[in-house]
Amino acid sequence: MSTNKIIIITAPSGSGKTTLVKQLLKALPELSFSVSACTRQPREGEVHGKDYYFFDEQKFKELIAKDAFAEWEMVYEGKYYGTLKIELERIWEETNTPLVDIDVKGALAIKKTYPNNSLSIFIQAPSIEELRSRLINRGTETEKSLEERIAKANDELGFAHQFDTILVNDDLATATQKLLHIVKEYLQS
Ligand code: 5GP
Repeated sequence: MSTNKIIIITAPSGSGKTTLVKQLLKALPELSFSVSACTRQPREGEVHGKDYYFFDEQKFKELIAKDAFAEWEMVYEGKYYGTLKIELERIWEETNTPLVDIDVKGALAIKKTYPNNSLSIFIQAPSIEELRSRLINRGTETEKSLEERIAKANDELGFAHQFDTILVNDDLATATQKLLHIVKEYLQS
């Protein structure tokens, strides 16, 4: 197995990405979650260095100036998120493969930086109608935020073809098996 590969996973919200990523990390110990840096406040239970490296804006900007990021972005108004080069290097040094779980734009940026040693996977809900009913069932959205998420998902769908693989998450067990197969095959290539 060659080293210095990257697995990039991205998905619109409501596509079941988080569950799939957890299953993948559990099944493949040779993968390590790449911890991103961000400037938003930690949520309850989130741990610095495990969920994110939580930095203030000044520190984040210093890191940008030092060219410390493989990619970074203002994902939400005033909130920065980025993948630290040193985090990828740390994982490679442990002879593991980083799994980068980021938004669509960040994913495409990483792919552009590492075109020859990355596998990019776009996880897609079966349809916008299915996505809508999942979000409604989840019960976390107002009518407005639901429409915003649907609009964002629609927009992000337009980028799906730029990824190496599109995985439709219609059934969780099937999608998990498919994802495992795709990633294992890539790691062995
Ligand atoms: P949250 O604040 O809910 O943890 O994440 C918000 C969004 O930021 C998600 O879409 C997540 O994928 C994205 N994100 C997390 N880490 C990074 C990163 O390092 N770079 C980029 N571009 N997006 C990220």
